[in-house]
Amino acid sequence: MTEADDGWPPPGIDISVPSTARVYDAILGGKDNFKADREAAEVFVGHVPQAKECAQENRRALIRGVQYLVRMAGIDQILDIGCGLPTKQNTHEAAQEINPDTRVVYVDNDPMVLSHGRALLATDDSTRIVTADLRDPELILAHPDVRSFLDFDRPVALMVVGMIMQISEHENPNQILADLMEPLPSGSHLFLTAWPDTGDAAQRSLSRACLETLGNGWIRSLEQLEAHFLGMEMVSPGLEYVARWFPEEPDKPVPTFEELQPFERTQMAGIAKKA
Ligand code: SAM
Repeated sequence: MTEADDGWPPPGIDISVPSTARVYDAILGGKDNFKADREAAEVFVGHVPQAKECAQENRRALIRGVQYLVRMAGIDQILDIGCGLPTKQNTHEAAQEINPDTRVVYVDNDPMVLSHGRALLATDDSTRIVTADLRDPELILAHPDVRSFLDFDRPVALMVVGMIMQISEHENPNQILADLMEPLPSGSHLFLTAWPDTGDAAQRSLSRACLETLGNGWIRSLEQLEAHFLGMEMVSPGLEYVARWFPEEPDKPVPTFEELQPFERTQMAGIAKKA
């Protein structure tokens, strides 16, 4: 996308500084980004040459997680926070391919996601998109497009995929997740992908790239990542490196840890179920 395109950028969008959603889009090879985003993406790739593969791995894990939630766990309501800009196979498409009645509310704090999402969802009655910040769970839970569209008397899947690393320890990510899960009934699920810190150089490069370009992107110990799931029961295979995480296909042969490339050790995924 160029800065001269008609109607772009939408009002309220500062294209002079990179935004996570647009840098992620640039890394994935999308078109919804500007010069500052592409420059940040280049810095990213300088630190992590396989940044695109990392993003693609995360997207594939997102789709597998959605397929598990809808097909295996019977979920038909999804609250996807930090949904981003990607256009190819989004949460609602993966979910509605299995159960066309699945309702999805997307939430992102980047206003460009809203304008982009509105165009994408113009004809979709089963999906809503809201501009709000994960760090304000009260506002998200009270938002009319969330409350009128999702039935909190029935299980909901909360997705925070590829973004909990953007919340600092000072902002207390686990309390935010707990506040969001609190009103959801038994049988609800929490689906996260996150960045581990096991001392691996590739993990540290990814975090450095993110901190340098976007000012956030923290890696955390395995214990800290497990704590994001608030003590709820983990769905098999638990918290795993995304390349080893196939919740829907328990019999599928998975690579051993030793077989993973360093960049494949940068992201983990997990789903937990509320008792
Ligand atoms: N969930 C998608 C995925 O995994 O492919 C997109 C992940 S993208 C790396 C992170 C997204 O989270 C961006 O769209 C960004 O705008 C959004 N985001 C970052 N911080 C946020 C916050 N505090 N509240 C809501 N959205 C946020």
